[in-house]
Amino acid sequence: MDEHTDFRKIEGKWQERWEKAGIFRVTEDPKKKKFYVLEMYPYPSAAGLHMGHIRNYAMGDAYARFRRMQGFNVLYPMGYDAFGLPAENAAIKKGVHPKKYTEDAIAGIRKNQKSLGLSYDWSREIATCYPEYYKWNQWFFLQMLKKGMAYKKESPVNWCPKCVTVLANEQVEGGKCWRCGSEVVEKLIEQWFFRITKYADELLEDIDKKLQGWPEKIKTMQRNWIGKSEGVNIKFKVKESGDNIETFTTRHDTMYGMTFIVIAPEHPKVLEWTKGTKYEKSVLDFIAKVKKLSQIERTTAEKKEKRGVFLGKHAIHPLTGQEIPIYAADFVIMGFGTGIVQAVPAHDQRDFDFAKEHKLPIIVSIQPEGEKLDGKTMQKAYEGYGTLVNSGKFTGLQSDEAMEAIADKLEKTGAGKRSVAYKIRDWGISRQRYWGTPIPVVYCGKCGMVPVPEGDLPVTLPENVRFTGQGNPLANHKPFVETKCPKCHGPAKRETDTMDTFVDSSWYFLRYCNVKAKDMFDPKAVKYWMPVDQYIGGAEHAVMHLLYARFFVKALRDLGMLDFGEPFTRLFNQGIVYKDGHKMSKSFGNAVTQEEIAGKYGIDTARLFLLFVASPDSQLEWSDEGITGVYRFVTRFLGISAEGRRNGTREGRMQTGDLIMQSKLHSAIRKVTQSLEEFRFNVAIGTLMELLNSMQKYVSLPQKPHKEVVSDCIEILAVMLSPFAPHVCEEAWEALGKKPFVSLHAWPKADEKKIRKDMELGEQMLERTIGDVETVLKLAKKEKPSGIYVYVSPEWKYAFFSELSKMPGKTKDFKEIMAKITKNAALKMHGQEISRMLTKMLNAGQVLEATDQETEFRVLSESKELLEKKFGCKVEIVLAESAKSEKAAKAIPGKPGIEVE
Ligand SMILES: [Zn+2]
Ligand SMILES: [Zn+2]
Repeated sequence: MDEHTDFRKIEGKWQERWEKAGIFRVTEDPKKKKFYVLEMYPYPSAAGLHMGHIRNYAMGDAYARFRRMQGFNVLYPMGYDAFGLPAENAAIKKGVHPKKYTEDAIAGIRKNQKSLGLSYDWSREIATCYPEYYKWNQWFFLQMLKKGMAYKKESPVNWCPKCVTVLANEQVEGGKCWRCGSEVVEKLIEQWFFRITKYADELLEDIDKKLQGWPEKIKTMQRNWIGKSEGVNIKFKVKESGDNIETFTTRHDTMYGMTFIVIAPEHPKVLEWTKGTKYEKSVLDFIAKVKKLSQIERTTAEKKEKRGVFLGKHAIHPLTGQEIPIYAADFVIMGFGTGIVQAVPAHDQRDFDFAKEHKLPIIVSIQPEGEKLDGKTMQKAYEGYGTLVNSGKFTGLQSDEAMEAIADKLEKTGAGKRSVAYKIRDWGISRQRYWGTPIPVVYCGKCGMVPVPEGDLPVTLPENVRFTGQGNPLANHKPFVETKCPKCHGPAKRETDTMDTFVDSSWYFLRYCNVKAKDMFDPKAVKYWMPVDQYIGGAEHAVMHLLYARFFVKALRDLGMLDFGEPFTRLFNQGIVYKDGHKMSKSFGNAVTQEEIAGKYGIDTARLFLLFVASPDSQLEWSDEGITGVYRFVTRFLGISAEGRRNGTREGRMQTGDLIMQSKLHSAIRKVTQSLEEFRFNVAIGTLMELLNSMQKYVSLPQKPHKEVVSDCIEILAVMLSPFAPHVCEEAWEALGKKPFVSLHAWPKADEKKIRKDMELGEQMLERTIGDVETVLKLAKKEKPSGIYVYVSPEWKYAFFSELSKMPGKTKDFKEIMAKITKNAALKMHGQEISRMLTKMLNAGQVLEATDQETEFRVLSESKELLEKKFGCKVEIVLAESAKSEKAAKAIPGKPGIEVE
């Protein structure tokens, strides 16, 4: 084969054969160990695939192929996250029906994926936009409703008054409607929620208990999202009204420094307390002002001005009995904790700023060690821990002791209770749009909200709706909305909200186990295949998708349908592909498409390049130059597998050169296997490239290569390269006269007995020696030498090297090393010389790796003929001990002394 290799033809040929033979189709086989490899399923966009997507698939496919060749029964499916906003936006803007848009996009991606040669079991393909799939979203919703795990409450949405429609966050661009540019406002409407907070503790605890195979970064993000904090709820009596209010704090050690209380302006008590008082007007003005601000504007830490207004009320401090003024403040938000916060200005920066603004007292209650803070002079809050001061009988305690003592006291007097708070909120699943799963409830004038009976599922999406961009198309579609009440058969209206598409992706991995399951999933198949052994996807889904899927699995377990609580055993996040400094994407105009690269270099080259050029979890800068190097590797591989057949070979006893090549092969098997297990594809490919280099050298040596070694090398290289470059490897495999398919061939095992590090080092020494002889000849200006002497280093130097290699870590201290080495009596004799050599080595910062005198002598002696041929004169290999030459004394392990005549 040569540079005119028709990659397209090879790719097409093998893709067709794989499909025809169905070699990637799997069934549950109790005799085989299963392995479930899964990539996060893609959203089918009309833009098609670029190198960023392909990197993800190339990783998953290489890994799935590797596990399959190792003998696992590998489930490796593909499907499409088919509901969603872009399809609906396309309907509004271009008049294409979302279903058509989606189906076209899926067809495009599927075609791309198939031409990548990915080893999916295509018989398991799913798309979430069809009733046979989304029926089960509805069924799950009904189960959650029964258990009180789904509920409805008022919640804010983005609202475009001109389009009369709810907007998704992605449809709000700089506070304006994506479609008409009107100012977007916040509106409260009733929406559906899943009670994920009920699982907050388990979701948190299982991160440490069960997710050892996840990246630390992702686990931290999940922990932060759940945001558990332990503290106390404190009750305060309001002096003027007699109300009880409650705050939550994790810093009750600072309680004696509390000088005011702040309350969210939207808290109902704010209007109740001020109605008809002299404070009413200023409070109403303040609320109107706050309404114009977003939550981010209200809570941002950089904002210096702390807006607030006094409510004319006071709370009684439960420990001191002091009266503490209550303010409404914009930085307190309803929905976080109780909406009421005790303010400790000396120990919280926001409270400090507010106190300065409103001239409220600042009282230090915590002193850091070795300092004496004063509320009158401090320039900023001290937020750390320390010793309690001004704190009644708690004065003198350390923060941690004081937390316990104060919590005990509050609990004893009934003024407070230890409590745990979470940042995580319930999962809002309502979307006011068309292209999603209809929520299966109806509203009856008589019976109220009535769930659609399970037997009536699915509630299907009507297709002939109009996409005007005004309101939710479902709500405007009378035949859908108007229905009968399942209870009283009177007229009723359907819920027109559809579900968040994260619902679809929270259980699709269960469906893959048997896509024809009569129920939500097939318990037998799920028992065999789940959990997913290796999940692969982008870090942008680090929080929501993964958290929701974990929640679903736990909820299904509690419905008695699963016997495990975590869906993904191991997780890998691939790095992002960049080009010209931007993330590769169609919208930046820097997308390198599959067609472009496949046409020029073949798809195997693209796959190899994407996995070789950077470690899989780091970002990759696409370079057109880089890919040509990988392209040369692929053509060289095809060349050598052809050459292996053409050139003659030798049989019989193996020589050192053969054993060295064999050793390199088995070292490579060990390294490639280990790298693949650890998801270090770049290291694996680098090792294969080195192996090919060594093979090329080996087959071009003057003596013919050994038949057994050369065929082992070529075959095993084809096997190990096939997870990355499956098409060309199948082609080479066939050219070797092997039965198809290399894709199903057993993964090779390294034979440790054949790994001969000493010989590999010997070979390096020989190459170094040849180089040294050439240098000496050049320096001596001798083109035709009459004789060459090669002096192998004296025995004691190998002993010295061996001692050096045993030194712990990276010891660099001269004295320390000398002390250790001269403990050896045989080496002590050579103390002076060792001292000289060591000084030189430490200065050069490098020590040669060497074997032993016997091996070096043997390797050189066996190569005597080769050296004589190369330099055209007699060559003598001499042990330094039996030579008097100065050059012999200079020889060191791995670097013989050279003398020319
Ligand atoms: Zn609008
Ligand atoms: Zn009814």
